[in-house]
Amino acid sequence: MSTIAAISTPRAAGGISVIRISGENAITVAEKVFFPVSKDKRPSEMNSHTCAYGSICDGGTVIDDGILTVFRAPNSYTGEDVAEISCHGGIFVTEQVLRLILSNGAVPAGAGEFTKRAFLNGKISLTQAEGVMDIISASGKAELRCASALKEGALFRKIKSISDSVLKLLGSLAAWVDYPEDDIPAVTNEEIYDTLCFEIKQIDELLLSYDSGRIIRKGIDTVIIGKPNVGKSTLMNLLSGCERSIVTEIAGTTRDIVEESVRLGDIVLRLSDTAGIHSTEDKVENAGVKLAQKKLETSELILAVFDSGMEISDEDISIAESCKGRNAIAVLNKSDLEQKFDFSAISGNFKECVVLSAGNGEGTEKLSKAIENIYKLGNISPDFGIIVNERQRVCAEKAKNAFSEAISALDAGATLDAVNILIDDGENSLLELTGERASEAVVNEVFSHFCVGK
Ligand code: GDP
Repeated sequence: MSTIAAISTPRAAGGISVIRISGENAITVAEKVFFPVSKDKRPSEMNSHTCAYGSICDGGTVIDDGILTVFRAPNSYTGEDVAEISCHGGIFVTEQVLRLILSNGAVPAGAGEFTKRAFLNGKISLTQAEGVMDIISASGKAELRCASALKEGALFRKIKSISDSVLKLLGSLAAWVDYPEDDIPAVTNEEIYDTLCFEIKQIDELLLSYDSGRIIRKGIDTVIIGKPNVGKSTLMNLLSGCERSIVTEIAGTTRDIVEESVRLGDIVLRLSDTAGIHSTEDKVENAGVKLAQKKLETSELILAVFDSGMEISDEDISIAESCKGRNAIAVLNKSDLEQKFDFSAISGNFKECVVLSAGNGEGTEKLSKAIENIYKLGNISPDFGIIVNERQRVCAEKAKNAFSEAISALDAGATLDAVNILIDDGENSLLELTGERASEAVVNEVFSHFCVGK
């Protein structure tokens, strides 16, 4: 395989830049351009995981000074010999160093090629490589935690245990199918049934984790609705901890949709406070109402706010009706006032109900509990392995379908050969998920989303 090189740090001016070289000739290439200050320390003689200070030279011309770090195969990121040169972080100087390396025997690395080599050399699984990519793009604590768990192999181990157990079943089936005359004990339908049912259940749990995982990582698109003056802006301000919406006592002051990401315990809500769903003569406000209606239709979670210090009104009832069948929480606000609101009239439209005071903050912790209940977040942990992208989900779904078909075939009295083929199909999907049997096209597709230098 060729020796590749790329700038691994962002293409911007900074303190330092790192140019990474990987492949059989990585250290030979480094030796041609990097000259350690201590003369007895030639790159080719350096031990793995050691570094040297020196100058980067093009013939007799010094381009920069910096540090060379050497990693020897197989104990490197890619599994090959790797040399990393850290130089000053200017865009021009970094590109000069890269150009020098390329003119001394390395070729430019493609997108994600270092990580792809790590995968091809068996250093990491495909799901772990996806974890590396997710770590780079993670923008929050929860997202980073999911990405790290993926990189540490949580999902890989989970899938591996399922595929190993199916493989064992396939082994017994194959022996029996191939050598029927030998004295191999027959695999009973019950054994096949038990194994497949158990593994389908495991896959189902993983599939469920996809939705919860997405919520943990990306947050929930949430809309706050309610008639004017019930305390929507106050609630929004309380959750975001700063004054974003203008809170006044005149009805209908929130004319635009104010959007903000807020953290509620472990959950991130992408919150929109709207002008309220109600008819109005005011033109500007009317535009806001239309936006609010659209937002209401597309949101994943609805917080419908009611003023519990007032009698329930027709407007409240129609707002409640728009929540029917949705992931909606009734927020009975102003719990500090005398309670006059008859919630029982509308309770059927909501999955959860929370009584709180946005004014003084009492009861807000109940809101996060209610959200956890709706999305069943309580029993999900990235450390146990969760599915994080569409590729993984499709593979898991295919495996599950194949195993379900195998069970149906068994029920219908199909021959063990036929059942065997279906189980094998499912096993293939699992191996595609981990990358152990992924086609080149699949592998290329995964790494095409990486940046150059990773
Ligand atoms: P919006 O029109 O739904 O956005 O309502 P606002 O957030 O502007 O609040 C309307 C009025 O209700 C303001 O005077 C708030 O101070 C008041 N308010 C909001 N939450 C509470 C609460 O929990 N208790 C009490 N007593 N008043 C509140």
